Amino acid sequence: MANLRISGEHTVLAFGPDMKAVATAENGSIIEFETLDCFANQITDASQRMADIDETNANPATGPVYINGAEPGDTLKVEILKMELGPVAVACEIPGEGVTGQVVNVESVKVMQVADGICHFSDDMQLPLNPMIGVIGTANSKEWVNTETPDYHGGNLDCIRIGEGATLYLPVMVEGALLGMGDLHACMGDGEVGVSGAEIPGLVTVRVTVLKDCKLPLPFVVNDDLCATMCSCVTLDEAADRAVLQMRDFLMECCGVPSEDAGMLMSLSGDLRINQVVNPKKTCRMELPMAVIRKLGYTFE
Ligand code: CA
Ligand code: CA
Repeated sequence: MANLRISGEHTVLAFGPDMKAVATAENGSIIEFETLDCFANQITDASQRMADIDETNANPATGPVYINGAEPGDTLKVEILKMELGPVAVACEIPGEGVTGQVVNVESVKVMQVADGICHFSDDMQLPLNPMIGVIGTANSKEWVNTETPDYHGGNLDCIRIGEGATLYLPVMVEGALLGMGDLHACMGDGEVGVSGAEIPGLVTVRVTVLKDCKLPLPFVVNDDLCATMCSCVTLDEAADRAVLQMRDFLMECCGVPSEDAGMLMSLSGDLRINQVVNPKKTCRMELPMAVIRKLGYTFE
């Protein structure tokens, strides 16, 4: 059903102004992205260590794809139609990385079977899957941003809401938008405190649509139950504040909520959450229930 398939052989390690597209897609078309895991699929055995792999290949994003008709100032709507995961996921804990990396001295690697909706963490511990895309973004026109870092263009957002059935809205900063993605997780909790999710290769099917004059604060994610603004900043405090204030802008400018009500409505019905605290910039999101958005009469394009 897809119009185009992008091989996992085509990856980038940064989202920059003059990225070279590996393929061109029509506006409204369906694209499959074969994605490598964040270790570029180099870890297959729990005895391996980071020193054994080429870490300069970390967090590859498959793509980028040029979307016909996308011009700077537009918004790219990315509907995540399907996520298929590989059979094996890898998790790790690394001294000096993540929150728990502050207190561990020994590197640990876990290789886990993933099947039938379950990640087999150990013989006694099975975890339900919540497949999500860790890295997804468009070309950043201002600077090269490595795929370890989240920002306005998307990138390493590590948002558990960016999964099958969700729609992500990203900025178009250069002609063609130049969409890329990778770093799937079979499961992950908010925060990604130990520096990894259940890192896994996969196949992601998306539909891409260029929106003109879209007023959403970006990046923005919508699913059946909720919608969320996302902001990435050097500190968690700033990321939290900005995610909240962007949702306030959305309520006032898109949904017509009076300014005196916007803050109270968010405070009474929304959830401020942490995407991740382990990347070079930290990411927070402000979530609102879709029931509230529907009551306001707003419909997402
Ligand atoms: Ca990530
Ligand atoms: Ca990851």
